[in-house]
Amino acid sequence: MARLPSIRALAAASEHTVLKTWEGLGYYSRARSLRRAAQIIVRDHDGEIPSDVDALRRLPGVGAYTAAAIASIAFGRDEPALDGNIRRVLSRVFNMTTPLDSPLGESRLRDLSAKNLPKGRAADFNQAMMDLGAVVCLPRNPRCETCPVGSLCDAKRTGRQSQLPVRPRKALRRRIFMGAAVISRPGEVLLRRRPSNGLLGGMWEFPRPRFPVRQGTWHALTATARANPRLFRDPYQAATASCPDRTRLFSF
Ligand code: SF4
Repeated sequence: MARLPSIRALAAASEHTVLKTWEGLGYYSRARSLRRAAQIIVRDHDGEIPSDVDALRRLPGVGAYTAAAIASIAFGRDEPALDGNIRRVLSRVFNMTTPLDSPLGESRLRDLSAKNLPKGRAADFNQAMMDLGAVVCLPRNPRCETCPVGSLCDAKRTGRQSQLPVRPRKALRRRIFMGAAVISRPGEVLLRRRPSNGLLGGMWEFPRPRFPVRQGTWHALTATARANPRLFRDPYQAATASCPDRTRLFSF
């Protein structure tokens, strides 16, 4: 806050300054989104955060839940917010047998939440539901005996707490094999900057080529160089060519 005390200051700051200020917090894509959102707020909303859910959702990094939470808590709008905790509470109280992340489940949740939202008190309602899910209606072993909505809860009445919410079948995990090539010469080491979008976007790292199957990095690079003698003189060159974007030698 001392370095970037306002939306306008954040919008005017360079990406480097914002990332440096954010350093150590992780999730660096959030810092980038925050800066881009500030720029849009300055450009399109005269520097004021919009209170309207649609306008909020057009800001980078703001999804349906965040937009509804800002609109209801910061601006008092009657918007139901649906985070993981609220979804779990609703699915149990109303004994929802539809998987929550299916289109039907999503629309049922929205209906239930909107129908039960007390007019003019969305901020209190959303926060109370979040707290209820966080400390009482826990994913495992919900504390039904002390629950303030226990008398209304269908899952408690029918003993189905542990079966709700209905989970979708898990997607198959994809395995990715990667290696790291530490390429150095006296006083210097080769680093590569990751693409700005995606995991750890914009961070520096040792070149990390991906391999189709599990194998040692050196083995893979040697095989790559051997298979492409016209392209690669040796495994070092294969490593840098595997990560062609923005490689740099750093001195130490
Ligand atoms: S009674 Fe139990 S299952 Fe129902 S909302 Fe409360 S804690 Fe959750």
